[in-house]
Amino acid sequence: MITITKLDPSFKYEISKTPGGQNIRRCFQCGTCSAGCPVGEIDERYNPRKIIRMALLGMKERVLASDFIWLCTACYTCQERCPQDVRITDLISAITNLAVKEGHIHPVLVQQVKAIGSSGRLHSVTDFINKRRASMGLPNACPEYPEIQEIFKMTGLSRLVDSDGSE
Ligand code: SF4
Ligand code: SF4
Repeated sequence: MITITKLDPSFKYEISKTPGGQNIRRCFQCGTCSAGCPVGEIDERYNPRKIIRMALLGMKERVLASDFIWLCTACYTCQERCPQDVRITDLISAITNLAVKEGHIHPVLVQQVKAIGSSGRLHSVTDFINKRRASMGLPNACPEYPEIQEIFKMTGLSRLVDSDGSE
């Protein structure tokens, strides 16, 4: 059920002003994007047409706090097929950027940022990997990168991951 008082009519304009979201108001709800979306095939919670509809209606909190906006794999199938050039892949990216701005960050992203902040990599470097590097004439991978931690401090990313509260 939609509660009118919880709708934010300015949400669509906010999205329009975000890079990638400029064409959201061109959508006429034909459903071509949802019909061809491979993610929607395996997880019915993900429906790009419905996300756009919710955004146009002003369901800001529901959209930004949802899990499903993070499911897009950026395959660009919808973007190539949309008759209105809504540029859906870029639009979903704009929506997730707004979600981060509002403090809704998917836990997987936080873990990825933490991994990069601590070791400079998404995956930890094991002894086996270092042995393989040595066999290829490469130096051992550093366990820590102070430069990255400095960048995290300067950009505020360290605050973002610290405020997450998860380990
Ligand atoms: Fe809207 Fe384009 Fe999706 Fe059709 S294909 S529902 S016009 S975004
Ligand atoms: Fe679905 Fe995202 Fe691929 Fe579009 S770019 S078809 S929304 S997974």
